[in-house]
Amino acid sequence: MAAEGSSSTGTLKVDEEEFFGAESGWVEGRTTCDHLPSLCSDLSQIPLPDSPCTRCHHPAENWLCLSCKDVFCSRFINKHMVNHHRETGHCLALSFSDLSVWCFNCDAYLDVQMIRQLRPVYEVAHLLKFGERPSFRTLEM
Ligand SMILES: [Zn+2]
Ligand SMILES: [Zn+2]
Ligand SMILES: [Zn+2]
Repeated sequence: MAAEGSSSTGTLKVDEEEFFGAESGWVEGRTTCDHLPSLCSDLSQIPLPDSPCTRCHHPAENWLCLSCKDVFCSRFINKHMVNHHRETGHCLALSFSDLSVWCFNCDAYLDVQMIRQLRPVYEVAHLLKFGERPSFRTLEM
């Protein structure tokens, strides 16, 4: 029989804390971004999360430009969001696949819960995609 359990030796899983709070789908992002003034002033009405790319009509997992509210496909499909950014300078985009927000100018994900200006559109997108409002971490007060 194996000696398992009969000795106290073994590797402790010290790495576990690294994963603390890393719920599936949660993307750690920047809490600041200098490009928020380019956000569309009315993000209370946005296209549905299953809207096709306006250029190639790719049907799903597209990006919403947060400056002009057009929908484009990802860099893994036909790169229309990337092209749109290059053509227009619009740099903030919300992913309809996981509702994360990417800033092309920061070249980073943004923390939609910590950045006040992004919370309303995240909330609307969450409502459209899941039929309910997101549960924000408590950060008031
Ligand atoms: Zn930025
Ligand atoms: Zn496309
Ligand atoms: Zn745009």
